[in-house]
Amino acid sequence: MTSLTFYGGVNEIGGNKILLEDKDTKVFLDFGKGFSRRAKFFEEYINPRAANGIQDFLTMGLLPDVKGLYRDDLMKMAERKIVEPDIDAVLLTHAHSDHADYISFLHEKIPIYMGDTCHLILQAIEERSNRQIEREVLSYRERPYNKKDDPIKRKINTFRTGDKLRIGSLEVEPIHVDHSVPGAYGFIIYTSAGPIGYTGDIRLHGTIPQMTRDFIERAKNEKLIALIMEGTRIADDTREESEELVSKESKKIVSATNRLVLADFNFKDVDRLRTFLKVGKENDRKLVVKMNDAYFLKHLSKDPKLNVPDIDDEDIIIYLQKKGSGKYQDSDYKGRDKEFVGRHNVWNAQEIAKNESKVLCAMGFYSFTALIDMKPKPGAIYIHSASEPYNEEQEISQERINAWMDHFGIHKFQCHCSGHARSNDLLEIVGEINARTLYPVHTEHPEVYKRAANNVIEVIEERLYPFS
Ligand SMILES: [Zn+2]
Ligand SMILES: [Zn+2]
Repeated sequence: MTSLTFYGGVNEIGGNKILLEDKDTKVFLDFGKGFSRRAKFFEEYINPRAANGIQDFLTMGLLPDVKGLYRDDLMKMAERKIVEPDIDAVLLTHAHSDHADYISFLHEKIPIYMGDTCHLILQAIEERSNRQIEREVLSYRERPYNKKDDPIKRKINTFRTGDKLRIGSLEVEPIHVDHSVPGAYGFIIYTSAGPIGYTGDIRLHGTIPQMTRDFIERAKNEKLIALIMEGTRIADDTREESEELVSKESKKIVSATNRLVLADFNFKDVDRLRTFLKVGKENDRKLVVKMNDAYFLKHLSKDPKLNVPDIDDEDIIIYLQKKGSGKYQDSDYKGRDKEFVGRHNVWNAQEIAKNESKVLCAMGFYSFTALIDMKPKPGAIYIHSASEPYNEEQEISQERINAWMDHFGIHKFQCHCSGHARSNDLLEIVGEINARTLYPVHTEHPEVYKRAANNVIEVIEERLYPFS
């Protein structure tokens, strides 16, 4: 008996948690955080309480109430019966929060499989940010929280394309795909009922479309009995977009100014990072990175394939934030931040301001207070290189961004290319793979797939879908 049950990613973008059962084997495909589900009840000043362990997450439906999944310490806090973990593995497609973050709650004996590069990114994330109950993917601290306890490490197994994983009755073949974070994979899984495919997040208009093509080719040849397919942008209009275009437009903007330039992009998007490094270089500007983002350079530069510079690189400047006394004294920088103090390429706001035509600052809205110290001259540039606002909260942030722009006389530009395939590409992909049944996930509009595929299942959450 083989079946699928969807516990997240249903009529929502992200939060994928898909249970595949085959004979006695149970694996989860991703175990992500559902942002829209969370935002239904919570916002900036009202969050699930870490002091209540897992209870707030279970009660409000942010996590499925399923036995044999979660950590003993959390079960104990919730006054639940402690049982042995009943899941053989989690197969993680990539390092984005909406696929990875709720692994934080899972029992540490459940092995997590992920790509090598995905592992590096998660290491950087762990090192750069403070511990939070919703972000303890690689290791966690038992609750109730005691600072003296050592973190408990999860069992991580890494893979690369070409590897074959045996998990119980399943054989799993990870295949690289192109997405807005490196180390992203789709899976072909051989079950006792036949082969099924899971795309994770994919696109065909990125820098290496061939990777996604490799997945499609393999999926097509296997004659899948089921394809679990992302559909983030299935209902959006298709327009021209590419990393090349982002690069071209940004280059034009930057080359026309001698003023300060800020570029607001997600550092995990290594394509975008390389784009702004290149745009900087072509205009004699060094890339200024925040200390937090420097951790990504530190970890990702270890993977030679990614071609990411290390923190010592001559094209990199690390931005020294004001802390403690506000006077940039060595003693202001504690813990992990100490690593950056005294490096030759660490600049404070004044040094950056003095060299405004020589830098391109990788800084976004959350770093705008730095502008107060940098005192940019009118005519400075802000390139917003992320998706445009798609909910109310982001619209409000957008208004605040505009207010900062007005205050400092900064010009704003939008240059972006999405991590998700365009509607036409999605339809082409399902047509080509031609699986027996299609399970759209990671979308609010699964019905649109009916245009290109015959047996489209509009998934109902927590319902069991068996294969005969
Ligand atoms: Zn996603
Ligand atoms: Zn993603």
